[in-house]
Amino acid sequence: MGLVVIEPRDALAVLLDLTRVLAEERPLDSALFAVTRSLLRLLPGEHASVRLFDENREELIAGARSGQGASHTPLSFRRGEGVAGWVAENGVVARMADATLDPRFKPAPDQGFSVRSLLAVPLLSGGQVIGVLSLTSATVNAYTADDELMARLVANCTVPPLDKARLARLTLTDPTTLAYNQRYLMPRLRQEFERAARTGEPVSILFMDLDNFKLVNDTWGHAVGDLVLRAFADRVRPAVRSYDVLVRRGGEEFVLIMPGGNLVDAQEVAERIRVAVCETPIEAGEGVSITQSVSIGAAEWNRREGPDGLDRRADGAMYEAKRNGRNQVVVAG
Ligand code: GH3
Ligand code: MG
Ligand code: MG
Repeated sequence: MGLVVIEPRDALAVLLDLTRVLAEERPLDSALFAVTRSLLRLLPGEHASVRLFDENREELIAGARSGQGASHTPLSFRRGEGVAGWVAENGVVARMADATLDPRFKPAPDQGFSVRSLLAVPLLSGGQVIGVLSLTSATVNAYTADDELMARLVANCTVPPLDKARLARLTLTDPTTLAYNQRYLMPRLRQEFERAARTGEPVSILFMDLDNFKLVNDTWGHAVGDLVLRAFADRVRPAVRSYDVLVRRGGEEFVLIMPGGNLVDAQEVAERIRVAVCETPIEAGEGVSITQSVSIGAAEWNRREGPDGLDRRADGAMYEAKRNGRNQVVVAG
């Protein structure tokens, strides 16, 4: 059938506009939102979405959505599940005249839009699928071969900003612990201070140093040491709030940035981390079981000092925890 929804000249204007938006420095989600909005202007359909693979490339997570049902809770698909999962697994386009007749289609009753025609295009970076663009229409047979080409063109425009964001994350991530690396610490602290100055909210940090960690390396080797560092980070994450930021400062030293946290919050979280680390030995394979503890200094931003000043005070408190016998929390006065 091929519903013409837009004149070529208008299509060009939409594409140029999208290209301009995608070249701007802006948060990834707003870039992706521009993509789904443009898809609905360029092609027939009532709902457009971008889904991105998670880190393990196992699950497609909802990125941005436009059109009907955009405010409903999004579905996520595992690799191979549903049409999006099929496209992600196979790296090829799915264009369906009536998805409800296709065995790959997984109906979802409460998504706020009805699906008959479906067009799903893989987002390919370096030959690998990194996500899927989808467009659906309540009308059967809505998408022509030309529509498919247009969707591929939009997919190609979507990949560079995704690559850029991934690269930025990669250069700021410590591969051993998946925490941020030290490059991220001072800029993020500066940013949090600016925000806190504006909102009047507190900011606190924890300075955490593993106790007698050299002994772990000397006894079990560096690889086991790395496992312990990873286990430490894995125990910190569930003990903190989702917007707290874990940074590996170097070696066996970590900083937790707590936006909105005052000294009482910081002390509480520090104690939770301390217990989570030492209460259960870390299993490091082949019967190796290591009881690790951590010394923690907590400090709240005094609203005058710079990032270095706060870092130094938290470090000082941590140092006192070491002097007092390790495996404890000290609060900076
Ligand atoms: P303290 O309780 O006083 O903090 O003692 P410590 O042994 O933890 O402190 P020290 O600073 O003497 O030793 C830190 C050790 O951390 C030394 C180094 O071998 C180890 N280390 C630093 N970076 C890494 C890393 O990336 N992987 C591993 N496995 N070990 C590391
Ligand atoms: Mg140290
Ligand atoms: Mg140490």
